[in-house]
Amino acid sequence: MVKEYLNTDGIAALSDAWDREHLWHPYTSTIDPLPTYKVSHAEGVRIYLTDGTELIDGMSSWWACIHGYNNKVLNEAVRSQLGKMSHVMFGGLTHEPAIELGKLLLEMAPPGMNNVFYADSGSVAVEVAMKMAVQAMIAKSGSHKKTNFVTIRRGYHGDTWNAMSVCDPVTGMHGAFGSALPIRYFVECPSVKYGEEWNPAAMDELEKTLKEHSDDIAALILEPVVQGAGGMRFYHPQYLVEARRLCDEYGIYLIFDEIATGFWRTGKMFAWEHAGVAPDIMCIGKGLTAGYMTMSAVLTTKDVADTISRGEAGVLMHGPTFMGNPLSCAVAVASIKLLKSQDMAARLSHIESVIKRYMAPAATMPGVAEVRVLGSIGVIEMLHTVDVGKFQRICVENGIWVRPFGKNVYIMPPYIMSDEDLVRLIYSTLKIVRCIA
Ligand code: PMP
Repeated sequence: MVKEYLNTDGIAALSDAWDREHLWHPYTSTIDPLPTYKVSHAEGVRIYLTDGTELIDGMSSWWACIHGYNNKVLNEAVRSQLGKMSHVMFGGLTHEPAIELGKLLLEMAPPGMNNVFYADSGSVAVEVAMKMAVQAMIAKSGSHKKTNFVTIRRGYHGDTWNAMSVCDPVTGMHGAFGSALPIRYFVECPSVKYGEEWNPAAMDELEKTLKEHSDDIAALILEPVVQGAGGMRFYHPQYLVEARRLCDEYGIYLIFDEIATGFWRTGKMFAWEHAGVAPDIMCIGKGLTAGYMTMSAVLTTKDVADTISRGEAGVLMHGPTFMGNPLSCAVAVASIKLLKSQDMAARLSHIESVIKRYMAPAATMPGVAEVRVLGSIGVIEMLHTVDVGKFQRICVENGIWVRPFGKNVYIMPPYIMSDEDLVRLIYSTLKIVRCIA
């Protein structure tokens, strides 16, 4: 049954009564939940609600649905794999979709990557990457001392335990866990923004921390160039070049979390390409399966993989039930082939130019702190935290789907969006920004 509810803040919303009473949605109260809008189907760049409302999707379902919804090629890849097998265990068995995907990933990966570990989700990929770094460091150093992590503030790496521990303690939403989480080393987030002139002083705090504590540290983990859910910040790629140098100098591994930035979102296939430096370990997810199935992958070098294998345990201590799920692998292969069949650099450069042009007027609107655009990510940072429930209600009234977070109203549309829809999406977003200011 679909019913109209009035939240305590007076927001009217169409919510399914059973859903509202029993289903937990992300980051919302069970007592006074944010409204949920019931979807009947999605097609291309449009999400259709059960009451017939049509929404232009500005979120790609949290960075994932890069080719839009109900894509014929991707549907066929799943259907064809379904007829063969939907799943087999990866322990002792292998299959063509996993092998084909692995080959494609290593072709696109930073130089030196040699081994692929398939995991369940972005957060789990981060757990696996951190376990890789710790196991390799113990094996390399022969001691259990260098097992902690350093990271940059305003980062976001997921919601599982260790992933939470390297998220920004404030914007990463995990402050509630306090001392239950392992204590990590945090340094200021990169101070030089993308496009600004590089200032070597931006590395001072990281260098100081490594100088003092590298004996305790296995790896530096960060999101390259774009810090996503922790603040939607874009920083200077030179930071990565210098971070690589410092990691080598102080003998720690470098982990890139490319879960949000991967698969062209920043205008490059992966964000490391902005700097041309390779990490030792790299996490990918979200766009990997184009939003069809949950899956992630952790790539690493032969050196890291073999060091782990020569260590005490002799193996990487992780092996999930759904590792290398054939349906996920098959759709990931089809999605990567779709990307490779198009001039994605040109496509993204075009999307970026449209977002830049039509979002620019927001910069002078009341209540707006800054507008920034990179690749297909357009961010309007407000001066104050945005009321998500209110914002989304007005979005739905205006036929768009945008979900702000904190002070940031941002769009990251599917790459197939027409100019006409993109301009409509931005125009409506600006209209709502003006209306909430
Ligand atoms: N790392 C980054 C950079 C992310 O943006 C996210 C998800 N927002 C994650 C990790 C966690 O991924 P998942 O939600 O699939 O666990």
